[in-house]
Amino acid sequence: MERYEIIIVGGGIAGLTAAAFAAREGRRTLLLEQQSHLGGRASTRHENGIYFNLGAHALYNGYAHESFRELGLKLQGGVPSIGARGLWKGRLHVMPTSLASLLQTPLLTRKGKLEMAFWLSKLGKLDTSRLNGISLSDWIEANLKDPLLRHLFHSIMRTATYSALPHLHVAGPALKQLQSALKGVFYLDKGWGSLVEELRSVAAAHGAEIRTGWKTAAVRHENGRVIGVVNDQGEGIHADIVLLAVAPATACKLVNGWEHTALETWKKQSRPATAACLDVGLKRLPNPDCTFLYGVDQAVFLTDQSRSGTPRAAVMSDNGEHTISLIKYHGDDNDAKEDERELENVLDLAQPGWRSELAARQYLPRMTVTPDIPHINRVDSKPGPAVPEIGGLYVAGDWASHGELLADAAVASARRAVQHILRKAPSIIH
Ligand SMILES: Cc1cc2nc3c(=O)[nH]c(=O)nc-3n(C[C@H](O)[C@H](O)[C@H](O)COP(=O)(O)OP(=O)(O)OC[C@H]3O[C@@H](n4cnc5c(N)ncnc54)[C@H](O)[C@@H]3O)c2cc1C
Repeated sequence: MERYEIIIVGGGIAGLTAAAFAAREGRRTLLLEQQSHLGGRASTRHENGIYFNLGAHALYNGYAHESFRELGLKLQGGVPSIGARGLWKGRLHVMPTSLASLLQTPLLTRKGKLEMAFWLSKLGKLDTSRLNGISLSDWIEANLKDPLLRHLFHSIMRTATYSALPHLHVAGPALKQLQSALKGVFYLDKGWGSLVEELRSVAAAHGAEIRTGWKTAAVRHENGRVIGVVNDQGEGIHADIVLLAVAPATACKLVNGWEHTALETWKKQSRPATAACLDVGLKRLPNPDCTFLYGVDQAVFLTDQSRSGTPRAAVMSDNGEHTISLIKYHGDDNDAKEDERELENVLDLAQPGWRSELAARQYLPRMTVTPDIPHINRVDSKPGPAVPEIGGLYVAGDWASHGELLADAAVASARRAVQHILRKAPSIIH
């Protein structure tokens, strides 16, 4: 039977990052992905010359970006302009995203503007590590006085966290993500698929082996230690270490006896965030003035990832079309048809006549943004990296967050797992 030091199950951002860092340290590493392509929720689909991101859109100025740079990824793309509209009571207004737009916006009174200016100057320096025992809603309630400012803040926080669960979301990680977002996000040319390809190539250059179309069916373990994995065709591969870079519910399915391990807590406590996503490729923009929009009283968001500006944002098509993404962040309940109608109505307001310019379209009614947000009811606020009951078994993924969010959490958890493995398990195979 084949033998590796480390097997990584799952070829999303977490799995690929772990493969790159483990292989860079000289560990004999094999990554197994069930689909025919890599990337998971960070994949990009190419249709009629247009690049549609499946999930991730914005690379924040945080942990993931730093780690990708450290691995030598080139990351082509651009920083989008921040001039935005705010949708309030069915009409579009100037959204206060800078000092100049704060002065112009009709959405706030003079008093509200002064309060927002105060917070804009203070937010960057806020010590978010002290805000782990309070929900985002409670923090907003306790700290912001102006009722409209509270609405605006909720709207900005929905986009920073990609969720509409402020009553559950821990305030600290959410505000830390906002601090990263305030430094400017990065949109990738040809979408996240290009980042995934760069990550694959770096991991492979360091010696990691990668197999797609290999669906892991079980992790084999004996006497409390991992001995390998087996796939749905019954083929086995030996390994001393298995890192599961998959969602907690999937990890449980792969591990016999998971009920007696920390996996049970992590699965039980998980509170996913989901969203409906409508993406359109437009030959021409009917309204070039509305390429970035926050829903203030609706949990929606619109961004033209290829919007012009200085410098321009990302190249998201082969022939100069614009790729516009709309998101409806789900709260406690949702309806796929309603969500689609709501997103189309937003597009009617932002880009009237868009239907005649349509080059391609994708509607995904229920995407899992993350299988588990950092929420106030977590029993274990820092899942992973090791599954303590089974030697050599590790987890990573955006849900295994120790305070990071989204792709930052996927990357941070992957690096934590690799660091733990390097510390605990001296190399056996050379
Ligand atoms: C609509 C949307 C918008 C988003 N926007 C942003 C954003 O702007 N910025 C940001 O930072 N993040 C964003 N995210 C989140 C980001 O996409 C995720 O945090 C990140 O991609 C998660 O990576 P992962 O590796 O943890 O998980 P995944 O991408 O889910 O990877 C898991 C992989 O494991 C594979 N797998 C599962 N089971 C098996 C098995 N049995 N055998 C083998 N392989 C298996 C899956 O096929 C998959 O490829 C967004 C997500 C969504 C849905």
